[in-house]
Amino acid sequence: MTTVELVPLLAGEVALTARFEYAPTGPLPAERTLLAQALGVRRHWAPVPAFLLRHPEHGDTLVDAGLDPSAERDPAATLGPASGRLFGWRVKPLRPQLDALGAEPRRVLLTHAHSDHVSGLGQFPGIPIVLDRREWDATFARGSWLNGYVPRVLEKRLTLQSLEVEDAPAYGPFGHAIDLFGDGSIRVIGTPGHSIGHCSVLLRTAGREVLLCGDAAGSERQLHEPRTSAIFVDRAQSLDSLNRIVAWHREHPEALVVPGHDPGWTAWHDRRAA
Ligand SMILES: [Zn+2]
Repeated sequence: MTTVELVPLLAGEVALTARFEYAPTGPLPAERTLLAQALGVRRHWAPVPAFLLRHPEHGDTLVDAGLDPSAERDPAATLGPASGRLFGWRVKPLRPQLDALGAEPRRVLLTHAHSDHVSGLGQFPGIPIVLDRREWDATFARGSWLNGYVPRVLEKRLTLQSLEVEDAPAYGPFGHAIDLFGDGSIRVIGTPGHSIGHCSVLLRTAGREVLLCGDAAGSERQLHEPRTSAIFVDRAQSLDSLNRIVAWHREHPEALVVPGHDPGWTAWHDRRAA
């Protein structure tokens, strides 16, 4: 049974209002959250994670590309005007971290194409990206920057392996999953709702299964009291994806489920690094 080695990475941090990870109930949750974000209500630093997956035959895969090094001093340059202005950013460039590990990513698998997951791609020129086709299309839709996409980062990517996730068969409680290498070690799981083609990544490591939620679950709290985060393209679909993650975890209590931007992740990452 083929397994991968998982190396958690920290690509930086983003200053978020607490409502981001746990949307307020009632009408206009996204709009109210963006107002709280703009006013700086209860901001805290949340991690921007990335993950290195080391496969014995297929080499290194980077999951999400984190932040471009310029994002700290000039966030609008690679994060776009919306993300650049609304949030505060701290950057930990991924390239030196990977070099220190002797890693050579052969592909970057993107959970989705929001700016805090793709803007760091400039550190990996020429390396193919793997992305749900719907996310690729959404990136180049008119006005996509208002939804957190950064077309100018992705338009330079000539090598794209697009995934037709919505055509893939079901896997457990999940509606669609693609077995990336055909050996069960890395599965790309359709968890749409936060964005139109959002995917989570299910791994088999030597010790246990690990589900990298991406932004389908932004915080640990959402896994215990399912409620969407404030950012979604389809709220019902986002909640449905979250409920499927919770259902999968109930069936696999020994597995590790990693939310996308939980402040606890930073401490967990630092402990492992120590
Ligand atoms: Zn996102």
